[in-house]
Amino acid sequence: NVRVRFAPSPTGYLHIGGLRTAVYNYLYAKQKGGKFLLRIEDTDRTRFVEGAIENLIRSLNWAGLEIDEGVMMKDGKVVEEGDCGPYIQSKRLDIYKKYVDQLLESGHAYYCFCTKERLDNLREGQKIKGQVPRYDGLCRSISLEEAKERIANGEEYVVRLKLPHDEDITFEDEARGKITINTNEMDDQVLMKSDGFPTYHMAVVVDDHLMGITHIIRGEEWLPSTPKHVYLYQALGWDVPTYIHLPGVLNKDHKKLSKRQGDVSVEDFKGHGYLPEGLVNYLALVGWSPEDNQEIFSMDELIEAFDTKRIARTGGVFDVKKLDWINSHYMKELSADELLDMAMPYIEKAGLFTKADVEKDPEHYRVLMETIQDGLDRLEQVPEACGFLYDDYEVTEEDALEQINSESAPAVIDALEEIVSDMDAISPEEAGKLMKQVQKKSGVKGKNLYMPARAAMTGNVHGPELSNIIYLLGKDEILKRLEKAKS
Ligand code: GLU
Repeated sequence: NVRVRFAPSPTGYLHIGGLRTAVYNYLYAKQKGGKFLLRIEDTDRTRFVEGAIENLIRSLNWAGLEIDEGVMMKDGKVVEEGDCGPYIQSKRLDIYKKYVDQLLESGHAYYCFCTKERLDNLREGQKIKGQVPRYDGLCRSISLEEAKERIANGEEYVVRLKLPHDEDITFEDEARGKITINTNEMDDQVLMKSDGFPTYHMAVVVDDHLMGITHIIRGEEWLPSTPKHVYLYQALGWDVPTYIHLPGVLNKDHKKLSKRQGDVSVEDFKGHGYLPEGLVNYLALVGWSPEDNQEIFSMDELIEAFDTKRIARTGGVFDVKKLDWINSHYMKELSADELLDMAMPYIEKAGLFTKADVEKDPEHYRVLMETIQDGLDRLEQVPEACGFLYDDYEVTEEDALEQINSESAPAVIDALEEIVSDMDAISPEEAGKLMKQVQKKSGVKGKNLYMPARAAMTGNVHGPELSNIIYLLGKDEILKRLEKAKS
């Protein structure tokens, strides 16, 4: 029974690299008929941010990743559901203490009384010598009895992992194969800090075991920690889960995408008007590729096609152009009403029109959305795409001026003006037939007809379907613009 987990720290936002990790976990769980858990790793109290858990869950839900077990939101509240709770690490301190004690008793861990000052000096000295900073094991030889006495006397302490000397630790990574590391390369990791909180390493192993996690799918930045985790599983007498480490999500310089360089949070991307389907589809392809060259995947198709054996070993560069291209595919799939609904916050912010305007003439705004839809990558582009209707009309473009001053232009513009003047309001059907009438009246056809008409009505030589533009502009605005074009 496959059980996977996404285990973020509540740092305040969900990084898109984190979302990618969550997506892979989710896809794997769904493909195997397993469960996708959310656990909150908040043992580093210095990093705690208010509201961060809600924010994380909201981002996951927005992306369409439903949480089966663990921390989730119900009726706007953070709740925990499942038999292996609590799922928030700061509520599990007793549990970690129990297993730390077990490791101390079995000789797999020891109390360490070294002061911060001593550790700092040690680290400095090692750095100067060009060595990897590592604890020197001074407290390894303190007996458990002596240590307990010192603790009873009020000395501060941490608990460290007692690694054997010169022993190979081996594990299988499903994406990378067999990995072996010698304990001489490893540090006697702190398992429990002086404040009684476990470190990530202790908590992650205890929780993954007690929560029945079968597959650990996480970023490669955790790969160096994995041998310590494997050793802890063995020391506690537990089965080691299957590991799958994911390559990083990189920027163009092949460095980790970081907040300093711009948008990295799921909220940022949501704000730019990416659709969850587009972002998830794109992220799935950063670090994984299907057997064929398919690029557009619905969530269900991803669930079916996902294969941990095809996870890349090297980082994937985050390519905004490709994200835009994939997102534009999903933008085209929206109905006009959906598009309008989703774009409304951007439209209102730009001050183009309001919901009340839409209620007065839904057909007009539906046609407007249909008119601009095909050229959109993101929702935030909607106001600009509506510019032909809302911006001040001005013929400044070289190409447009050329059209307005062309030989056929006067006849076309006059015919347009006469026909439109005689109409009441222009319905969509009438708009569809208008250019045919102008052709008849002016005797001009083809490019010589359409280009000056478009230039005169929009100030542009390119743009959406002309009959839509005619309907959307309406009688008065067309006449105004023709007047201006002639002057
Ligand atoms: N809390 C870790 C993080 O923030 C989880 C790492 C893991 O999945 O083991 O990414």
